[in-house]
Amino acid sequence: MPHERTECEKQWAQRGAPSDVFSVEFRIGLPTGESAWIALTTQPIIIDGVLTGHIGTALDVTSHTDQRQLSEQLIGLLDVSGDAVIVFNRIGEVVFANDTAKTLVGVHDPHTSFDDVASRTFMQAVRDQLPRVLLDPAAPTGSPSRWDGEIGFRSPDGIARVLHVVVQVVRNADGSIQHWATISRDITEERHAQAELARQATHDALTGLPNRVLFVRKTTEALERSKTTHASVGVLFIDLDKLKHVNDTIGHAVGDQLIVSIAKRLAAATRPSDLVARISGDEFVVLCEGLLDEHVALDVAERIRTAITGPLVLQGVEIEAGASVGVAMSTPDLLATQSPADAAVTLLRSADTAMYKAKQRGRGRSELYSEEMRRIAQERQTLASELEQALAGNQFSVVYQPIESAHTGRIVAAEALLRWNHPTRGLLAPGAFLDLADESGLIAPIGDWILDQGAQTVAEWIRDGLVDPSTALHINASRRQLSDITFVDRTLTILRTHQLDASQLVLETSESNLVENNPSVLRTVNALTRQGIKIAVDDFGSGYSSLASLRTFPADILKLDGTLVRDVGRTDGGDDPMVRSLIQLAHSLNLTVCAEWVTTDDHVQRLKVLGCDLLQGNRIGEAVDAHTFADKIRRKLNARQQ
Ligand code: GH3
Ligand code: MG
Repeated sequence: MPHERTECEKQWAQRGAPSDVFSVEFRIGLPTGESAWIALTTQPIIIDGVLTGHIGTALDVTSHTDQRQLSEQLIGLLDVSGDAVIVFNRIGEVVFANDTAKTLVGVHDPHTSFDDVASRTFMQAVRDQLPRVLLDPAAPTGSPSRWDGEIGFRSPDGIARVLHVVVQVVRNADGSIQHWATISRDITEERHAQAELARQATHDALTGLPNRVLFVRKTTEALERSKTTHASVGVLFIDLDKLKHVNDTIGHAVGDQLIVSIAKRLAAATRPSDLVARISGDEFVVLCEGLLDEHVALDVAERIRTAITGPLVLQGVEIEAGASVGVAMSTPDLLATQSPADAAVTLLRSADTAMYKAKQRGRGRSELYSEEMRRIAQERQTLASELEQALAGNQFSVVYQPIESAHTGRIVAAEALLRWNHPTRGLLAPGAFLDLADESGLIAPIGDWILDQGAQTVAEWIRDGLVDPSTALHINASRRQLSDITFVDRTLTILRTHQLDASQLVLETSESNLVENNPSVLRTVNALTRQGIKIAVDDFGSGYSSLASLRTFPADILKLDGTLVRDVGRTDGGDDPMVRSLIQLAHSLNLTVCAEWVTTDDHVQRLKVLGCDLLQGNRIGEAVDAHTFADKIRRKLNARQQ
C-alpha cells in the first residue's frame, strides 16, 4: 500500500545504527485484489568491517496480524463495557482485567496477581459461591464449563455489592484448566430497588408497620402452624376513637402524628413475637400466637388498649387518645372448615365485627367476638348486598306524613319517608337499613331518588290545587350526604326539574351532624342555606342535646323529639316546663318549632298553648302513600265544601 510504503521508508531511514537488525510489518496488494501482511526482517552484510548490503526474510503474517488487531479491538470494547471482565490463569493469577474490573473489583494492575488483595478477594468470593465442579481440576469430562448467578462481594475498601457473574472455564485437552474468565455486573442498586419495592408492597408508608397484605400472610402462616401445635391464634382489631374529630379540629397533620404515636405505643405494648400491623386509616391489628383461651386474649387486648389510651401532646395540643378493640380467636372448627388463608381473612373480619360492637357499646373498650355477632354480621352482609339491588329492582317506595301549622290548621308540608319492600322480609322502615346504605355509599343514589319522588309528588299536589303553592317537602339527609358538596347541585337540579322553589325543601338531619363542627358538613349546609333550602334539626331532645349549641346551628326548624312530646300533659300540673322553655328559647333564636309524635287531641291543644308552630304525628295524619295522601285531602276539601 503506497502510504505504508512511505511509512516503511521513513522507518528504514530512521533505523538505528546501519549494522542493526531491522524489522517492519506492512501490507502489500496482491494480484487477486486482496492484501497481505508481510513481516520483513533484514540483517546487514558486513565484509571486512564494511557494510556491503542487507539480507532479509519476508514472511506472510496476514492471519496472525488480523487476529492481533481483532484482539486489540475487542480489548478496546471491553474497556468501555459496563461489565467487569477478568481472566484468571490456571493458578489464579489475573492475566487480563478491563477498566471496569479495576473500578468494580478494585484490581489495580492486571499483571499483579496474587499480590493484589482485591483480585484475590474477588477470586475467592467467586470460588466460594460457585458450584464446586466448575473449577475442579479433576472434574470429569463433560462437566459444565459455564455458570451464571449472583454473588455477594465485599471489596477490600469495605463496599458490599451484589454482582451478577458469568463464569466461563476453558480446559486443555487433558481436562486441566487452562484459564477461566468472569464477566460481572453490579446489580446492587437494582436489588436494593427491588427490595424497597417489596418492602413498600408489604409495609405502611406512614408508620413503617406491616400492612394488610403482610398481616394476612403472617396470620395464614400462624394458622398453618397451629394445625400441628393446636395452640390458638388471636387477632386484635384496634380502631382509634374519634380520629376524624382530631383531623377536623386540629388538622390532618396532627391526625397523622397521632397515628404514628399510637403505632409506637403499640409496638412497646406488645411482645416481640406479636405482629403489629396498620391495615388502613386508623385501624391497627395485632397477631398473637400461643394464647391460652379467650379470657387471656381479652386480658391482652385490655392491656394493649390501656397502654395506647391516654393523653398525648402533639404540636403543643393535648389529645386524649383512645381506641376500641375487637378480639377473635381461631377455633378447631374454623381450621377444619376453611383453608388457612381463608381462615386468616375470616379471623380478621370477626375481630373487626367485635371492634364494631365495642364502638357501639360506647368506645374505649374491648369486645370478644361471639356467635351472636357472627349471625348479626352475616345478616348485615346479606342485607347490604340485597340493598344494592333494591334501587334497580324498584323495591323502594315513599310514604308522606303531613305537617300542619298549629296556627292555621292547614297542611304546610309533608315529610317523605322511605320504605323498602323487601322480597322476603316485608316492608322495612329506614331504621333497619339506612346506616347500611350510609356505610356503603348507596345513600347518595337512594337519597336522590327519594328527593326526586317527593318533589314530583308535592309539585303534583300543588298543580292539582290540593295544597298551598308554598307547601314544603321534608326529607332526611345523612351526615354522609351532607359531607358531599356535590349534593347541593344535585338537589337544586331535582328541585328545578319539578319547578319547586329552594325554600320549599327542608332537609332534616340529626343534631350531632350539625354540632360536630365537621368542616365538610358545614360547607355543604352553608351552601344549601345560601340557596334558600331550609335545615331542620331532627329528634331534638333525644339523647345528647345542647341548648348552648342551638345558638350556633345553621338551622331554621327545630323538631322536638317524640319522647318529649309524648310526655306533654303527663307532668304534674300539666305545665310542661321543659317543652315550654325549649319552644321559647327556639323562638328567641328565630327557629320554627315542630312537634313530632302528636298522637292525641290533648297534645294538639297543649302544644298550641305552648306556642309550638308545626305539628306532625298520627293525630295530624299517618304516613301514607302519595295517592292515599291526595285522596284524604280531597275528601277533607269536599267535606268542607258541603
Ligand atoms: P370512630 O370512633 O367511630 O372510630 O370515629 P373515627 O373518627 O375514628 O372514624 P372512623 O374510624 O370511622 O374513620 C377513620 C377516620 O380516620 C377517617 C379519616 O377521617 C381518618 N383517617 C384515615 N386515615 C387517615 C390518615 O392516614 N391520617 C389521618 N390524619 N386521618 C386518617
Ligand atoms: Mg376510628
